[in-house]
Amino acid sequence: MEKILEVKDLRVSFHTYAGEVKAVRGVSFHVNKGESIAIVGESGCGKSVTSQTIMKLIEMPPGEIKQGQILFEGEDLVPKKEKEMEKIRGKEISMIFQDPMTSLNPTLTIGRQIMEGLIKHQGLSKAEAKEQAIGMLDLVGIPMSDRRVDQYPHEFSGGMRQRAMIAIALACNPKLLIADEPTTALDVTIQAQIMDLMKELQQRTGASIILITHDLGVVAEACDRVVVMYAGEVIETGTVDEIFYHPKHPYTKGLLKSVPRLDLKKDEPLVPILGTPPDLLNPPKGCAFAPRCEYAMKVCLEYSPEMEASTPSHQSACWLNHPLAKKRLTPPQTEE
Ligand code: SF4
Ligand code: MG
Repeated sequence: MEKILEVKDLRVSFHTYAGEVKAVRGVSFHVNKGESIAIVGESGCGKSVTSQTIMKLIEMPPGEIKQGQILFEGEDLVPKKEKEMEKIRGKEISMIFQDPMTSLNPTLTIGRQIMEGLIKHQGLSKAEAKEQAIGMLDLVGIPMSDRRVDQYPHEFSGGMRQRAMIAIALACNPKLLIADEPTTALDVTIQAQIMDLMKELQQRTGASIILITHDLGVVAEACDRVVVMYAGEVIETGTVDEIFYHPKHPYTKGLLKSVPRLDLKKDEPLVPILGTPPDLLNPPKGCAFAPRCEYAMKVCLEYSPEMEASTPSHQSACWLNHPLAKKRLTPPQTEE
């Protein structure tokens, strides 16, 4: 399969008064053409920073890309200047944010905001762009689009605003759509509608999608593969079935137990993951999950586990799954 995006060993830090916060610590993953992947993890795990770095939207400074490559259609975005990124953003890669109220411009009509990209990137006239903006509003299921096109964001409901955001993001037919918690602020029924809409539009346009979410519930339906992040690292990645039915990493298992899901049996209780993620000013030496892990062994505190493949599509970073684990574990165990 052809890759549209490949992120290789990405490291992103933020320089603060307290020191260097290592928000993204060697993240690698890829997205194939026409594929939907989810990046999941608790807040602060680096998933949003990763996606904003792909769009080069992090403020530098205080942010800094310390290392790594972001290959979009084989071309590295990391060294690209702001001028070049402006041509890519909105046209090749688009982003939908969690809260449309803060990312929509309150002083411009919804129509104008859809038209902007069409005029800028596709050279349409104002009249042509407006025509297309109305078509986009139809496409995302906004009724009376010819009237709605002249309304302002505050005249739209929450769900409608999210649909409008999707219309803006998809107006220029991007090859990659990054949706950062696109449904978190919405109620469950609207959430489901928005996810259905994204899926339908994806099938129609052939765009690839990166869905950033803390909510595994929306992932199963909407995505092909899942990337699980913890403390700025990818700790497990696999197909939706592999992650949901054969999770390998204790953190992934914990995540699955802690979120309400339709496929959970009625009597299965929700179990929160106790403790908090580590401080990324001083990330731990070994496995970052060790302080919260009920399986933590001596080796986990000393050495960080590498990603290990259990199938061609399924990888996880945990000493429990490592072929060398037994060997390395023996000395510390017998020492005690
Ligand atoms: Fe737990 Fe050790 Fe696996 Fe980390 S490496 S998740 S501490 S068992
Ligand atoms: Mg976030």
